[in-house]
Amino acid sequence: VSRFEDVVMAPPDPILGVSEAFRADTSDMKLNLGVGAYRTEELQPYVLNVVKKAEYLMLERGENKEYLPIEGLDAFNKATAELLFGADNPAIQQGRVATVQSLSGTGSLRLAAAFIQRYFPDAKVLISSPTWGNHKNIFNDARVPWSEYRYYDPRTVGLDFEGMLEDVKAAQDGSFVLLHGCAHNPTGIDPTPEQWSKIADVIEEKNHIPFFDVAYQGFASGSLDEDASSVRTFVDRGLELFVAQSYSKNLGLYSERIGAINVVCSSPDAATRVKSQLKRIARPMYSNPPVHGARIVANVVGDPSLFDEWKQEMELMAGRIKNVRQRVFDNLSDKDKSGKDWSFILTQIGMFSYTGLNNAQSNNMTNKWHVYMTKDGRISLAGLSLAKCEYLAEAIIDSFY
Ligand code: PLP
Repeated sequence: VSRFEDVVMAPPDPILGVSEAFRADTSDMKLNLGVGAYRTEELQPYVLNVVKKAEYLMLERGENKEYLPIEGLDAFNKATAELLFGADNPAIQQGRVATVQSLSGTGSLRLAAAFIQRYFPDAKVLISSPTWGNHKNIFNDARVPWSEYRYYDPRTVGLDFEGMLEDVKAAQDGSFVLLHGCAHNPTGIDPTPEQWSKIADVIEEKNHIPFFDVAYQGFASGSLDEDASSVRTFVDRGLELFVAQSYSKNLGLYSERIGAINVVCSSPDAATRVKSQLKRIARPMYSNPPVHGARIVANVVGDPSLFDEWKQEMELMAGRIKNVRQRVFDNLSDKDKSGKDWSFILTQIGMFSYTGLNNAQSNNMTNKWHVYMTKDGRISLAGLSLAKCEYLAEAIIDSFY
């Protein structure tokens, strides 16, 4: 008899579990729209040309595999903060940003969560309803209490802006407010610049601390600056804030686990102290981060010609997703004779579309049509080809009605 008799079976992950079910399906028609990973029109994974070039450079230079410092690669930390805030941002120039390289978006969020638990034990984190499934796990495991603010309005398949402001206002002063910098996951619904401003007003009034999760910079609109404008609005107001960054999507470095946590502070002295504590938390968790992805990012951002090429490839990826989005909308509008307005699909941004399909309807998509997706009705348009849009529209209409 095992000592592990009391260990019960863990439920499958709601997102990664979808990929497991997809692999087990033998149908030719099957589509994996569960996981948020970019595919080519041939539905194959894509390694960016700039990544290959950066890796080639690394080989040529004969870079070694020595440990990085706890805070990661200097050149990466500098590049990543500048990409996010803009190189000429006063916060950077004044040395008020603590940046620590971490294990992609997830690891960076987790590190910040551990910091919050340690230094703000009475604070709560407010997260959007709905949000990326892993947010709740991250704060639960870090023992940081959280509650939800209204975000999605099922009636309009749009933003419940009034509800959001009310909930952020009603929260205890000095709460953390988790915000998706761009391309909200799972809904694809982002506030407008005017709405961001109002959100900042309320956050400032309430003395809350904004905590941005930026997993899609450059991938949403195709422009790095445009996708960072929400974060920069808050920094321009002089607020102290957290930003977790990921290069999984915009550089296609999913398995390299490269990202960072940035804490903008009101003084350089505070930034130095915060950074020292982030390092102190990282050391017993994983000692120091992996170097490969950090070097790729530093090489791409640090080389003007590679940087330009990256922007072009990003536009290409964002553009392909926009084309797929348009094609799905066209097919739905064409095939649906009920007169339902599907234009919310075009208003959404980023990799995902929130279809409004409920749990049972999502199950029909999978069981009858072999379309694998999360049960909340989210589909990854990045996993869809133009050629499959018509099939998908038929499946959605069949499942919807
Ligand atoms: N945050 C959001 C909102 C995401 O959608 C994702 C990935 O899907 C992540 C963070 C983190 O991803 P990673 O840990 O691969 O960087």
